[in-house]
Amino acid sequence: MATKDTGSSIKRRGLMLVLSSPSGAGKTTIARNLIESNIGFEMSVSVTTRPRRGSEIEGVHYHFSNKREFESLRDNGDLLEWAEVHGNYYATPRAPAELAMAEGRDMLFDIDWQGATQLKQQMRADIVSIFILPPSMGELKARLKRRAEDQDAVIDQRLKNARDEIEHWTEYDFVVINDDLDRAFQEVTAIVKAERLRRDRRPGLFNFISGLLAEKI
Ligand code: 5GP
Repeated sequence: MATKDTGSSIKRRGLMLVLSSPSGAGKTTIARNLIESNIGFEMSVSVTTRPRRGSEIEGVHYHFSNKREFESLRDNGDLLEWAEVHGNYYATPRAPAELAMAEGRDMLFDIDWQGATQLKQQMRADIVSIFILPPSMGELKARLKRRAEDQDAVIDQRLKNARDEIEHWTEYDFVVINDDLDRAFQEVTAIVKAERLRRDRRPGLFNFISGLLAEKI
């Protein structure tokens, strides 16, 4: 099965949109806007051993788990990718992502560079990856402090890790600098629209073009 092509009845394959960035660069807001704007993405809900933040809802933002449960999911092959980030485990559950791809639905992954690398190895043709950058390290720090959801020590660790994350920018298909959220969001949607029109994602084009050429005029 495949998703309807934009603006026509031509079928196309689902795509896996990977968004990565250092914490605080705005990736989570862009991801939420993409889901809420109804342009046809569903979010992959990750499993994590990180403690739940006050504003987070189990099953919506994450599936919160302990280390033992996480290791058992990993050892049973239930995770499509997993990584240790900021001292906690994070992973993409395998079943929902594989089902979405099989049914031609587009899925969004808010994961780090380690996860992006593993997904690319497994599903190369279906992946579109975007790296979101902050306009400056100073602004990144200010955003982490404004968010006020983490302790100072956690913020310091996230800033230190931001440099390591940014070094992987060349592994992504696209780079968006988030100095203005609306503009960054528009750039991401432009990428999505163009990627959905790629010839090799649209097996339905063969039938469409055969019909076109067979048309008597
Ligand atoms: P946070 O704790 O701020 O929600 O996320 C920390 C980092 O973990 C972010 O960079 C986020 O993209 C990454 N992350 C969240 N879920 C996953 C996942 O399932 N796999 C991997 N590899 N990284 C994840």
